[in-house]
Order: sequence, then structure tokens, then C-alpha cells
Amino acid sequence: MKREPEAFLKEEIKNIYDSNLNWVIRHLEASSKPHSVVDGKNVLMLNTNNYLGLATHPKVMQASIDATKKYGAGAGAVPVIAGTFNLTKEFQEKFAKFKEVEASILCQTGYAVNSGVIPQLIGKDDVVISDQLNHGSIIDGVRLTSAKRLVYKHCDVTDLGVQLKEADKSGARRILIITDGVFSMDGDIAPLDEISKFAEEYGAMVFVDDCHGEGVLGEGRGIVAHFKLQGKVHVEGGSMSKGFGVFGGTVAGSKDLIEYITNKSRTYLLSTAHPPGLVAACIAAVDVVENEPEHVKKLWDHTNYFKKEVQEMGFNTGNSQTPIIPLIVGDPGKAQKLGELLFTEESIYVTPIVFPMVAKELSRIRVQMNALLSKEDLNNALGAIERIGKKLDII
Ligand SMILES: *Cc1c(COP(=O)(O)O)cnc(C)c1O
Repeated sequence: MKREPEAFLKEEIKNIYDSNLNWVIRHLEASSKPHSVVDGKNVLMLNTNNYLGLATHPKVMQASIDATKKYGAGAGAVPVIAGTFNLTKEFQEKFAKFKEVEASILCQTGYAVNSGVIPQLIGKDDVVISDQLNHGSIIDGVRLTSAKRLVYKHCDVTDLGVQLKEADKSGARRILIITDGVFSMDGDIAPLDEISKFAEEYGAMVFVDDCHGEGVLGEGRGIVAHFKLQGKVHVEGGSMSKGFGVFGGTVAGSKDLIEYITNKSRTYLLSTAHPPGLVAACIAAVDVVENEPEHVKKLWDHTNYFKKEVQEMGFNTGNSQTPIIPLIVGDPGKAQKLGELLFTEESIYVTPIVFPMVAKELSRIRVQMNALLSKEDLNNALGAIERIGKKLDII
């Protein structure tokens, strides 16, 4: 048999395009903030995770520049081989205080947290119970374990109870409940208070991935602060790349947990540490969230206004409770078209979200609010969304 090593690529790519499931990568020629330049066009960006605008906050940018000048551009090695910067130690102590827990660790990314930490918390004698709509990086982390996997219906604590009973009966050594804090495609919030109560009853460990809750919930401190559960949630995973506007993954929790991760997480052990400029920017971003509450307040004012307006137009925003506002259309082709026309005709940059991010029949565009938007921006965006929504017979 004569093999054609790359023949499958063309075929697979054709399939992706034929089913309208292809991603379009656009190119930013300015910052990732509401007023930006994308593919040569001045646009209003409504799809950045930089909720508070901290990516271009002068203090955050300056911290990055100063640290780069002082320490250079790169870290040189993984932390356990050639050390980490005193900046990293400063960040981790500051972040633990910010989260009101004993300790924290700065990891490469939120993805690296999930793929590196989850497999170290559970093994073959254990059970992991995961929300049905958890982020793909959690799913990947869970795939790396040999634990028994149970799934509960999205945010459904009654079903979680059923799964916990089953895990308990099976004689599991450990039980890990894992959930997104804010669900990134729907913008709804996990019922962490009830999850935590249930976990206590069964002696289960709770892991919340709060990548989209940070900078948003609990005055920017995240979902644990939102529910006042500090010290009760065992593993709080997060990302510096979203509301904080910078880059990196975090875990906050007990001293023992952080010590364990430092020694065991394979992504922490095997991937190079943050460059110093990034670490300094992370410190500054946390500082800004603590000391300038106006950004979080603005984000929520915009969220409440915008959501009410699109709902009144007749859009289905699902269960959104946060600045993530999906406009659920159904058909993937229609969602792609909505995104495309908003971009080409109205200069609004929003992203169609299709399979595998969401189920095919729940295709949508996802709008994300931002503290840097003005009332005028919001009204312009609303007008454009209404025009294109009508044109495509969505509303
Ligand atoms: C974005 C996201 C991640 C990945 O975080 P990165 O720092 O971008 O790697 C993980 N989990 C959730 C829930 C996310 O939304």
C-alpha cells in the first residue's frame, strides 16, 4: 500500500467547511478593547475577555515595561529547574490574600491548570463528578485521569446529589466535584453554595474553574467571594488572561494544595515559567481590581442595560447572568451569517460560536460586555444587532 501521509488533511478541511464549522481567524492591528482595528477595519469589539480593559490599563502596561527592562524578556527555564523571579513570589502572596486563602500558584495558563492539576487529584480508585457543560480544558484534564467519570446535568444540584450517592456507594476513595464558575458559552453561574454544601456532606473535594468569574463576580474577586465561600472551596482555578487582561493560570487554595501542585502538576513541572514582564503586569492587574472598583461597576451597568435591550428586541439570551450574553440563533449557518454581516456591514466584531464549543442546534453569537464601552457604543451596537437580526429573520 502506498501511503499519502497528508491526504486526510484536505478531506477533513473540506468536511469542516462543508458543515459551516470552520473558524475564521481575524487579525488585530490595535489593542484587544472595544475600539480596535481588525483586518484593516475600525470596529467595535464585543468579543474580548478583557472585561475590565486592564490589558491597556496604564499601570498594567507600565509594570510590564519596567519589569522587562529590569529582568529581560524571558524566564529561561521551568521554575523547578532554574528558579522563579521574586516577582512571582510577590504575585503568589498577593493573589492568595486577594482570594482570602492560604496560598496560590502562578501556572502557565488556565488550560495548563486543568490539564496539569486534575490528573493529580484523582486516580483509579476515585470518582470525578463533572458538570455537563464544563469547559473543554476541564474535559481534557479529566480525560487524563483513570478515575471513574460521572456527569451531572448542567447546574442541576438534584442530579449532582444522585451522582454523589452513586459515587459514595461505589466506595470511591476520593470524590472530586468539578465545575466552571461562570460558564463561558452561556454566561450562567454555577450554584457553588449548594455544591459546596453537598460536597461537605460526602467529604468530596470541590474544584471550581473561575476563569470567567474573575474581574466580574464578587467585586472582581470571583465566584468564591461572590458566594462568600472563602476557605470552603478546595481548589480555585483561574486565569490571568481574561478579566485581569494579562496572561497565565492560577490556583488558589490551602498551603498543602499549592505545595502538592508545585511538586506534581506536570504542566507546571514541564513548561517554562512566565516572563517577568507578564508577572509584573499580573501583580499590577490585581492591584487595579482591588483599588479601582469603578471598572467592575461599569462592566455591570453595561451588562444590565445591554441585556435588557436585546431581550426586548426578542433575542434569546439563554440563562445569561453575567457580562457574557449569548444571542442564541440555533442553526450554525445562521449564526455564522449573523457574525459575518455584523462585521462586514456594521463594523461590529462578535464571534459566532458553533460546534464543538456548543451543541450544533444551539449555535449563537456571543456578546461580551466591557468596562471601556460608552453608552453611545452600546446604542450603536444595539442598533446594528437589531438591523441584522431583522434582516436574517431572527427577531
Ligand atoms: C479560558 C478558559 C480556560 C483557559 O484559560 P487560559 O488561561 O486561556 O488557558 C480554562 N477554563 C475556562 C472555564 C475558561 O473559560
